Amino acid sequence: MTSAVLFRKVSRHFGPVRAVDGVDLDVGAGEFFAMLGPSGSGKTTCLRLIAGFEQPTAGHIEIFGERAEGVPPYRRNVNTVFQDYALFPHLNILDNVAYGLMVKGVGEVERMKAAEQALEMVKLPGYGRRRPGQLSGGQRQRVALARALVNKPKVLLLDEPLGALDLKLREQMQEELKSLQRALGITFVFVTHDQGEALSMADRVAVFNNGGIVQQGSPQDIYRRPKSRFVADFVGSSNLLPPDVMVSLGGERRWASLRPEAVRLASEGPEALVENVSFLGSATRLAVDLHRTRLHVMLPAGAEVPAVGAPVRLAWSAEDIHYMDDAA
Ligand code: ATP
Repeated sequence: MTSAVLFRKVSRHFGPVRAVDGVDLDVGAGEFFAMLGPSGSGKTTCLRLIAGFEQPTAGHIEIFGERAEGVPPYRRNVNTVFQDYALFPHLNILDNVAYGLMVKGVGEVERMKAAEQALEMVKLPGYGRRRPGQLSGGQRQRVALARALVNKPKVLLLDEPLGALDLKLREQMQEELKSLQRALGITFVFVTHDQGEALSMADRVAVFNNGGIVQQGSPQDIYRRPKSRFVADFVGSSNLLPPDVMVSLGGERRWASLRPEAVRLASEGPEALVENVSFLGSATRLAVDLHRTRLHVMLPAGAEVPAVGAPVRLAWSAEDIHYMDDAA
């Protein structure tokens, strides 16, 4: 498979700050790739390295097989959608969308036609004469997307593009972005600190911490088989079982993770005490104390819910216990 973006041991240091440190990355052509991690972990710097706004202090970058070091942003077939959209307030929507083509010297008739088409793609046909100030946040987000798509980039970089939207609009845009990506077949590299967003949209996820990638894989892989406590903790609401608790449960003396939805209430099994009950609509989450460790148990809708303070017995399948290589 052709790589859309390839990093080999790429670093970007700012004086003593190792923003990106020895990163290997391989984004496949046509992939929806998410970079997920806490604030300051190096995601945006990686994105800026792909865009060409930053140059690596060490390592090698290729975009569709071509060496990228030293190539300026406008010579890369890459466009970025920024979190704040960066629209020009004094230009109307059509001119905003057509701006990149104008800079490239594309004639007016042709660039207006392309801008109209891009607005149709993001479901905003007929909005071209308005100014950014006359649109809602979600509509501005779509304009920013159209403005990037009009250049027909081979790689679209998205830096927390849904961060400014409310939850409902965010969820709607997540679905739309995903279908648009599928329809256009463009490689998307998406930066987010929202694990739900990364898992629901991406074909593959890279989890960042301290300037490095700590795990890469499919959303299912990352969710079910986190390599470390950091990933388990960051990516989902996993239960982390310390080595001594694992021993008392008859397991190995190692850290393990166990997903709340894999735990059932049963007539036999280790005893725990219900400490809290939260009704979530589609499920009920129990917090229980098992050997002085707090675990969450996700009960499906319709299941019988025990009272706070009640003793319960827990069961899970052996394959749902996931031992982690790394206790960090
Ligand atoms: P966020 O989600 O908050 O945007 P991030 O994971 O994208 O975080 P980066 O923006 O890549 O993180 O920053 C990584 C580290 O590099 C941070 O410690 C940041 O302060 C530092 N950094 C980034 N740009 C510069 C710069 N131009 N000069 C100095 N330090 C920088």
